[in-house]
Amino acid sequence: MPVIAVTPSWDNDTRRMVVNQDYIMAVLDAGGIPMVIPPMQDEARLIEALDRCDGLLLTGGDDVNPACYGEEKLPCCGELTPERDFAEPVLIRRAIEKGMPILGICRGIEIVNVALGGTLYQDIALQYKDELKHPCYDIPASDAHGMRILPDTLLRRVMGTDACMVNSRHHQSVKALAPGMIINAVAPDGLTEGMEAADGRPILCVQWHPESIQRRLPEHLRLFQWLVREASK
Ligand code: MN
Repeated sequence: MPVIAVTPSWDNDTRRMVVNQDYIMAVLDAGGIPMVIPPMQDEARLIEALDRCDGLLLTGGDDVNPACYGEEKLPCCGELTPERDFAEPVLIRRAIEKGMPILGICRGIEIVNVALGGTLYQDIALQYKDELKHPCYDIPASDAHGMRILPDTLLRRVMGTDACMVNSRHHQSVKALAPGMIINAVAPDGLTEGMEAADGRPILCVQWHPESIQRRLPEHLRLFQWLVREASK
């Protein structure tokens, strides 16, 4: 059974390493074995840990330090986790090197975009538009806003639909897309809700939280099933 590396949150105030159980349940529901890899500050150990896994799931969490994409941190940027900013790009580069599938969720799409040379809006409402409420933390269900899935994309094939409603628990998002990536889903305000590798490598990233709704809405479970299927190859 494929083992899926899961990146946790790392809270220096409470000194706790935390993973929302929804990620764990989604990997289990998809037929994988979730294994949490702590954000170790040691490249060799991160690589050795990831090499024992078959797929990589990058979870949500704090904002990526704007210094990672060459910007100064503005007051509108949120909390940072320097440990994750170090560890996750190491895991991402290693996974890509090995052809290991990557599913990035929320902070996951943000760190993949930054790790591959892209940039982020430090705050959507202040730097892009505020007509659509992307930071919509009080709607845990699937209906924060609609989303269009672009034709001829991996996401379209995996989810089997060209549009759906999604939750939206983010205040940052992709600004400049990283080289080698293409946008696969767009919100009604034009904001990027998903991206994937342009050349067919198994990298799939989404800005919403499929793990929160996959038990009710099977098209979201299919993202995790894709990860586990690719991890079994
Ligand atoms: Mn959104």
